[in-house]
Amino acid sequence: MRLILLGAPGAGKGTQAEMLIKLYDIPCISTGNIFREHISNNTDLGKQAKAFMDEGKLVPDSLVIELVKSRITQDDCKNGMIFDGFPRTIPQAEALDATLADLNIPIDYVVNVEVPDELIVERMAGRTVCPSCGASYHKVSKKEKLAGTCDLCNSKLVQRDDDKEETVKRRLEIYHAQTEPLIAHYKLQGKVLDIDGVGTVDEVRARVKQALGVN
Ligand code: AMP
Repeated sequence: MRLILLGAPGAGKGTQAEMLIKLYDIPCISTGNIFREHISNNTDLGKQAKAFMDEGKLVPDSLVIELVKSRITQDDCKNGMIFDGFPRTIPQAEALDATLADLNIPIDYVVNVEVPDELIVERMAGRTVCPSCGASYHKVSKKEKLAGTCDLCNSKLVQRDDDKEETVKRRLEIYHAQTEPLIAHYKLQGKVLDIDGVGTVDEVRARVKQALGVN
């Protein structure tokens, strides 16, 4: 199974990806996570990507496409993969389509998680993460026990630079301008499953499974 998760930043793609990884026993390729890993390892790619990410801008296509091309040929992708946060532009989608066509492994479905902008701003502005162990929290849906402190390792929680309200709004503008056109691109291929992303994680999960025809 080869899936693309589409939707605005903060629509819940990562959460649904966690379920799909287990359901199909395939890896998730999250370009955002790969970049964050490079940043914490202080690699050249990490340094280049960080400047764009901190401002809520997209990392240039050339950097992203090469990264994904080398990732999908790794052994763990032989039974399929889930793309989360990639492709984000038409050139990225075209590059992915061409690479997968060469390998004769086309995308099966594009799961499009739909959430209104106002709700996304509310969700992301309330999100904090632990810089030490990576655990994530939310002031409404997943509160930490002791305010501002990680339940697991007692470190002080922080807000990701790209979760700050102003940055979230910029990311949404970029999403509408550059990523939303991918819905039409993949609708032409007849691959899009539109999912209402408003509701609890379980509700959205059930809708995704139903759309994919699994119980
Ligand atoms: P994410 O965790 O998917 O929301 O990604 C965080 C940030 O990483 C984005 O705001 C971009 O700056 C960068 N990024 C991740 N994936 C891509 C991509 N496919 N194309 C360009 N930039 C990306």
